[in-house]
Amino acid sequence: MAALPEPSSVLSFEDARHLVEDHAAHLRPRGKELVELLEGAGQILAEPVLADRNFPPFPRGMRDGYAVRAADLAHLPATLEVIGEIKAGARTDDIPTLQPGQAAAIMTGAPAPPGSDAVVMVEHTSRDAARVQIMKAVAAGDNIAPIASEAKRGERLLSPGARLDYAAIAVAASVGRSRLLVYSKPKVAILSTGDEIVDIDVPPAVTQIRNSNTYSLAAQVQAAGGEPVLLPIAPDEPARLRELIAEGCESDLLLLAGGVSMGKYDLVEPVLGEFQAEFFFTGAQIQPGKPVVFGRVPCGRGRLARELPTSSPAHVYFFGLPGNPVSTMVTFELFVRPVLEALAGMTPRKLVFLKARLKAEIKTKTGLKRFLPAILSGEFEDTEVELAAWHGSGDVASMTRANCYVVIPPDRDRIAAGESVAVLMR
Ligand code: AMP
Ligand code: MG
Repeated sequence: MAALPEPSSVLSFEDARHLVEDHAAHLRPRGKELVELLEGAGQILAEPVLADRNFPPFPRGMRDGYAVRAADLAHLPATLEVIGEIKAGARTDDIPTLQPGQAAAIMTGAPAPPGSDAVVMVEHTSRDAARVQIMKAVAAGDNIAPIASEAKRGERLLSPGARLDYAAIAVAASVGRSRLLVYSKPKVAILSTGDEIVDIDVPPAVTQIRNSNTYSLAAQVQAAGGEPVLLPIAPDEPARLRELIAEGCESDLLLLAGGVSMGKYDLVEPVLGEFQAEFFFTGAQIQPGKPVVFGRVPCGRGRLARELPTSSPAHVYFFGLPGNPVSTMVTFELFVRPVLEALAGMTPRKLVFLKARLKAEIKTKTGLKRFLPAILSGEFEDTEVELAAWHGSGDVASMTRANCYVVIPPDRDRIAAGESVAVLMR
């Protein structure tokens, strides 16, 4: 068997993250497909979406009230003759033209009549049969959205690489796109390792542990826009691990969980070494998750070269994630996500940290950057954060009590209550 990758490189969190981001920047999705609008929710757009008409297509009244000529309101209160009522959806032919001294009742979303240049809110008026008294002046343009003020016909509203979130779905619907071209979801092979791990429908012996990592990772992959491919559990034995890694290399990305620590039976790195793997890092100065591994294997081991279109990548990237369930979840969010997002077709998002006031003192050790499961709470703008009760990286239930991670810099062994700390949302 090949030796462990040399030299082993344990990077700072920031260096490891930048390295992943640099690789992700060069990754592209595999293909495109046409999907129904709602089927595409959460996927990444592979074509531009253009305005098929002007937005708004007519001068749109933005308040319930009276369409007026602003110049008629020089002296207040002003009394105007009401010449009609314009409802949303009113046909152009039915809309009267406003002459000086006239007003028209208008509803939100209705076309402002020719001759009008503003809408006075109904709250500032008083109606008496065919007349209306206006108590408040408006400037020309007030409460009317001019034709094409939001977008001109032909203008690009969404670009390839946009995630189809609910706002993007609204845009696509507005321009009449019931089908959209999206990038195919990347296939992400998930391989949990460990002699003690049994699958969830097998009754575990006392010293066996049910496989939760395959399922948490699959859920994280789905949420990040990928399609999980669940492989069978690999025992701590090189031959079977080799077979399953080869199978995992058929996918666009391979995630291994467990078997990356320093134990005698932690075989993931040596077996990947047999695949001529390049290792970019073999650890990061973080807790949980220090043994995390990132690298790539040349294609052609698992995939047959002749089956690959010429545009296929020359490598399959892999992550070896530590097997403790909390470590597996955290390292996915910190490192795997950008690679997956790039393979899904979007520009990977940067990690965004918030600041919050710490509710209770934290004592820890220096040396590692810590991402500790925590609870962000508070009333309106007054946000506080506290650690979730947890019993270490194996405490799978602790994550269900947390909605974020508190980030503790490696040089701090104590943070006092009331201090401002960095928070990474889950
Ligand atoms: P390892 O990273 O292989 O040293 O495993 C670290 C710890 O995580 C051990 O206590 C394992 O039993 C546990 N573990 C490893 N893989 C899984 C898994 N798929 N599901 C749940 N726990 C796991
Ligand atoms: Mg193990």
